Amino acid sequence: MHPVSGLTARTAVLSAVMVGVTLASIVLALNTFAKYREAVGYLADRQAQVLVTTSRLLQQSEGMVASTAMLLLADDHLARRQAMFEIADRKEWIGRLVEDLAEFRKAPEQFDAIYDARDRLVANLETLDALVEERIDLRLQLERQALPDVPTLAQLARVESGIAEVIRAARTLTTELSVAVGFHLAAAREEAQQRVRSLADETQRSAWLLKASGLAALLAVLATVLFIQRSVVGRLSRLELALRCERPRPEEIDVQGRDEIARVARTVHRYVDRINLNEQRILTINRELDFLASHDALTRLHNRRYFEQALAEGAESLLAGDYCAAMIDIDHFKQVNDLHGHAVGDRVIVQVAGLIRDGLPDGALLARYGGEEFAALLPGVDMESARECLERIRQRVADTPTAVEGGDVAVTVSIGLAPRLPMGGFEHSLKAADESLYLAKRRGRNRLVLRPQRATDPGVETP
Ligand code: GH3
Ligand code: MG
Ligand code: MG
Repeated sequence: MHPVSGLTARTAVLSAVMVGVTLASIVLALNTFAKYREAVGYLADRQAQVLVTTSRLLQQSEGMVASTAMLLLADDHLARRQAMFEIADRKEWIGRLVEDLAEFRKAPEQFDAIYDARDRLVANLETLDALVEERIDLRLQLERQALPDVPTLAQLARVESGIAEVIRAARTLTTELSVAVGFHLAAAREEAQQRVRSLADETQRSAWLLKASGLAALLAVLATVLFIQRSVVGRLSRLELALRCERPRPEEIDVQGRDEIARVARTVHRYVDRINLNEQRILTINRELDFLASHDALTRLHNRRYFEQALAEGAESLLAGDYCAAMIDIDHFKQVNDLHGHAVGDRVIVQVAGLIRDGLPDGALLARYGGEEFAALLPGVDMESARECLERIRQRVADTPTAVEGGDVAVTVSIGLAPRLPMGGFEHSLKAADESLYLAKRRGRNRLVLRPQRATDPGVETP
């Protein structure tokens, strides 16, 4: 098994990046929604309570003005006490509501103005209460008199003007209280707006982050697609293209890299190499087989089968004009084998074959006819030229010993030569040449014997 590497590792990294980016986007989105929900809850709950409390506070401070009017209009002590009871109640409510408000709003000292306005208003109303009480008593006193006495009237007038004074002061204090409460109402509204603004800013930031993470996910997908295209699809296509042709060339297979595809490519490269090598071997063997069908393996000369076939097929052109036939045999060759072994014997046959081939004229047809026997057709050559040529060959063989370990091996050849005969075809000439060869052997070997032109002529012999 291969270690995890190459494509597997890179695919795993890219997948991890994509999963990471996607998870980050989801977490970011969830976080944004949670913050949004929290902020909306806060606005709906706390800010709404602040607004409601502040509104009620404003109501109570306005109610104080109504109670002042009740006190002012009281014409007996019962009505006066009722008005004072209401004023005490409102004072109590204002205190409680301000405490509620202080719980939500951070700086309690900001409420000092409300407490101060309320306390001064209550003190003012207590003064008013005393004056109203005196006014009721004076009026009762005047009602009991038949004739109103002047000092009492004067005192009543003083009390009335005192009341008018206190009422003016009460109006001012009521306004102060309303302004102080109104200030908090405005502050609470401002706070709510600020909260909304910061929420909007945060939402916008989160939206940007979400866009960025979406873009990153998109880039990761793009990178994955490009990676797969370049590292997988592209290379597989090139590999397929290199293998599609009839004779794939190993150098066209891209084996760069260390990943799985590179390993597959290297294996394919080895196979293609081996297939090509085997094909070359088969071609060489076929060529050799073709060659051996018409040639002799040892001497590389044509074999007897080819010789006879060539004569049969090309008789018209080869045998159209004058020609000579020759048979050449190595003398006492058996002794060479016996004395030096078959391997040396083979080398001698090869050397003699080479000398004969090199000595014959162009166009001559030569074959290894038997073990150490050679047949030749010399087309377009007369007997005299043939005789000279073969004589040179005989001489050359006699003069050229084969060099082997332990010394030279010298051999000679006997040659029988025959011309074109008036009767019969080439086979007759070859038979006549064979008969001349037989004569050459009988007459002592290392010689050339010519077949006489006429049957009555004695065989001509050289040297
Ligand atoms: P002669 O002068 O009468 O021709 O005598 P010779 O010994 O040459 O003739 P013979 O026919 O008695 O012997 C031929 C020998 O050639 C016999 C055979 O073993 C040997 N021979 C035939 N073909 C080959 C070959 O391919 N290699 C070797 N080394 N010897 C061969
Ligand atoms: Mg022989
Ligand atoms: Mg022989």
